[in-house]
Amino acid sequence: MKERLIEHVQHELRQIREAGLYKTERIIDSPQGVEITLADGRKVLNFCANNYLGLASHPRVIETAHKALDRWGYGMASVRFICGTQSIHRVLEKAIAAFLHCEDSILYAACFDANGGIFEPFFGPEDVILSDALNHASLIDGIRLTKARRIVYAHADMKDLEGKLQETQDTRFRVIVTDGVFSMDGDYAPLDQIVQLARKYDAVVVVDDSHAIGFVGPTGRGTAEKFGVLGEVDFITGTLGKALGGAMGGFIAGPAPLIEFLRQRSRPYLFSNSLSPVIAATALEIFSWLSETSELRDKLEENTRYFRERLIAAGFDIKPGDHPIIPIMLYDAVLAHRFADMLLEKGIYVIGFSYPVVPRGQARIRVQLSAAHTREHIDKAVEAFTEVGLTLGVLKKPVA
Ligand SMILES: *Cc1c(COP(=O)(O)O)cnc(C)c1O
Repeated sequence: MKERLIEHVQHELRQIREAGLYKTERIIDSPQGVEITLADGRKVLNFCANNYLGLASHPRVIETAHKALDRWGYGMASVRFICGTQSIHRVLEKAIAAFLHCEDSILYAACFDANGGIFEPFFGPEDVILSDALNHASLIDGIRLTKARRIVYAHADMKDLEGKLQETQDTRFRVIVTDGVFSMDGDYAPLDQIVQLARKYDAVVVVDDSHAIGFVGPTGRGTAEKFGVLGEVDFITGTLGKALGGAMGGFIAGPAPLIEFLRQRSRPYLFSNSLSPVIAATALEIFSWLSETSELRDKLEENTRYFRERLIAAGFDIKPGDHPIIPIMLYDAVLAHRFADMLLEKGIYVIGFSYPVVPRGQARIRVQLSAAHTREHIDKAVEAFTEVGLTLGVLKKPVA
């Protein structure tokens, strides 16, 4: 029996390899940051982490985490409702809620769990969930755990969404679910229009703002702030594993009675361990830092603008926008992966993305900027991009 299963899986693995879809993990031998050391000793500049604010190994964050370890211990060895709730867990939940202009919030081990636990307690066969075609895998899985009808609307297409809201007016609850920022293109969900449609058709709005909280919007409160609807989105989910320190952890912010209900019924909350106090206390410090000053997100914005301008000037085809996710379009899968390999040889660590992660013929390199990048880092990256672009014929050689 076991032999048959192994044989079957080995066949699948071969197919993954032959299709060029096998993911190899590059080993890092240093803390996460913009300057990292690979296992083979090479020092490279990292341009592909979700470390948007540069907090993953920021001295202030490390110091806070050390102190938290001494003050609160390492782990809780309990779910929240047995003996896994320390005062910092509740203080952090209140701080997240205040930051996002919501009534309360609830912590999870990851945003994947938050998205897995947000739908099933509330929605059933009488309800319909309208989901953007490019939503994150964790939202798709979370929706699958309910018996609600799932309807996918075309990506960020408000006409399509409105039509589907009209068609479903006879259902009990209608829920619009979207990423705030979509990770492959760095584009935004039009939340102002989504909130308007939700009002018009009496729908609940759930936004996963994992690629936004901490830096999108004038004070880093996310996509809702950018679109002027902060406090008007019903549920915001997010991760502590990206801009907000990069360790792990997730949350849902929303109306107090609905958060209260999640504490009673949300399975990944009820049946999974409490967030480590080291992370809870450090995240709290990060939220209070981000509430005091916008300096980190301002630096990231400036870095993003500079990098985008310089790449466009060099002649690259990049998706327009202002998010620190910057897709450099190469279209051809082999070219994109070759390009990334050659950049690594020049000390720039980026990843090529191709089908099935992005549509066929849309292969690209996705760069992610950080507030921790300096001008020199960015200049070095642009130089390397230009050299490789010329070598591979992506850029035209300047006429002598
Ligand atoms: C990264 C990400 C997640 C997963 O967050 P984790 O905390 O790592 O589980 C969920 N949704 C979106 C949109 C993400 O980008």
